Amino acid sequence: PVVTRFAPSPTGFLHIGGARTALFNWLYARGRSGKFLLRIEDTDRARSTPEATQAILDGLTWLGLDWDGEPVSQFARADRHREVAEAMLASGTAYKCFATQDDIAAFREEARTEGRSTLYQSPWRDVDPATHPDAPHVIRLKAPREGATVINDEVQGKVTIGNDQLDDMVLLRSDGTPTYMLAVVVDDHDMGVTHVIRGDDHLNNAARQMQIYAAMGWQVPVWAHIPLIHGPDGKKLSKRHGALGVEEYRDMGYPAVGMRNYLTRLGWSHGDDEFFTDAQAQGWFGLEGIGKSPARLDFKKLENLCGQHFAVMQDAALLREYEAFLAATGQSPLEITQKEGLAKALPLLKTGIKTFPQLSEKAHFVLATRPIEPDEKAMKALDGVSRSILSELTPHLQNASWSREALEATVGAVAEAHGLTLGKLAGPLRAALAGRTVSPSVFDMMLVIGREETIARLADARG
Ligand code: GLU
Repeated sequence: PVVTRFAPSPTGFLHIGGARTALFNWLYARGRSGKFLLRIEDTDRARSTPEATQAILDGLTWLGLDWDGEPVSQFARADRHREVAEAMLASGTAYKCFATQDDIAAFREEARTEGRSTLYQSPWRDVDPATHPDAPHVIRLKAPREGATVINDEVQGKVTIGNDQLDDMVLLRSDGTPTYMLAVVVDDHDMGVTHVIRGDDHLNNAARQMQIYAAMGWQVPVWAHIPLIHGPDGKKLSKRHGALGVEEYRDMGYPAVGMRNYLTRLGWSHGDDEFFTDAQAQGWFGLEGIGKSPARLDFKKLENLCGQHFAVMQDAALLREYEAFLAATGQSPLEITQKEGLAKALPLLKTGIKTFPQLSEKAHFVLATRPIEPDEKAMKALDGVSRSILSELTPHLQNASWSREALEATVGAVAEAHGLTLGKLAGPLRAALAGRTVSPSVFDMMLVIGREETIARLADARG
């Protein structure tokens, strides 16, 4: 069975690159009835606050990436890491190194002046433990000096690193704390991780980690090191390109399903498919579709996909996520009447929007209560002439039957009587009904809010 994991170091937010890594791992596992595990690499005690960890959980939750079981704390597993280091010591695949920082510096200095590799070679590697002093020491891996370490990477292909490029890495520091390299391997092994999908900035670590797997006789996972995300200009992604944290995207009002779709396509492809559902993504996703070169962020594409998802979203799900968006951005929760209005209007509102703020704008006619305050543009549309024509419309609306055809005919007749096109009259009518210049069609709005409310809003607009 497939087991993947996401192993972020808590930094205070979920980076969009990390989110994509998590997403790939989630898709891979979910599409294969596997497990997707979460491990918080919280060994840096200064940075790893509960808040920083919570920010990652919140980001994943918003994005809809559910993990299996409880998140694993790497820090909490330090005893187990020590136990493995001791086991390696016992089996002779690791050794105690008593070299001091000064010894190591002296080694490097000498190597430099003699033109040899400055990779540290500990004199303690082959010293009989029976003759060891009782002194502070680290535990180092007895790494192979000959040959090469070969990473068969599903994305990068075969990557060969000469063992003469890798020193005897430290596994356990002199204070007894495990190094990152040891902790990752022990955790991945113990968690039963079968596939490690992560950023290609970890490719070199994979070679070192393979040496630890070999020393323990453990099964090496499948590696997939994915290229990092770049900015639209092809440069390394940074703050100047725009939002980096997933919660910023949430607060800008992109729906999670659109974000998932977009991030899935960012560095992975399936023919020409751009827009797809979660089920499709899970069915299609595989390591073979991951590109070898860095993907570039493309905000237009993100918006476009979000627009397509809004259009097909189930009303209940959309409403739920809209309420979560309002809460996350500190806006007032919806009143019952607003929810009722939205429920009626959603079929009209779902198309043509790309973000939740755009939904708020377009839904203003059901969210606002009388008297509707027109915004600046709507105010302009309500000039004196328009107001008087609107007042003339009222008695006709009193008697019209409340259907689209009848309303079109009624409004059309009044416009014609003034030598206006329907479009010319629709502007002020929209301003009166919605207080905005962006809204669904005037007839759609009239059908949603009903006769009484329509007439009342026209009376308000007349002033
Ligand atoms: N904690 C590492 C990071 O945040 C990831 C380690 C891994 O995936 O193996 O970059």
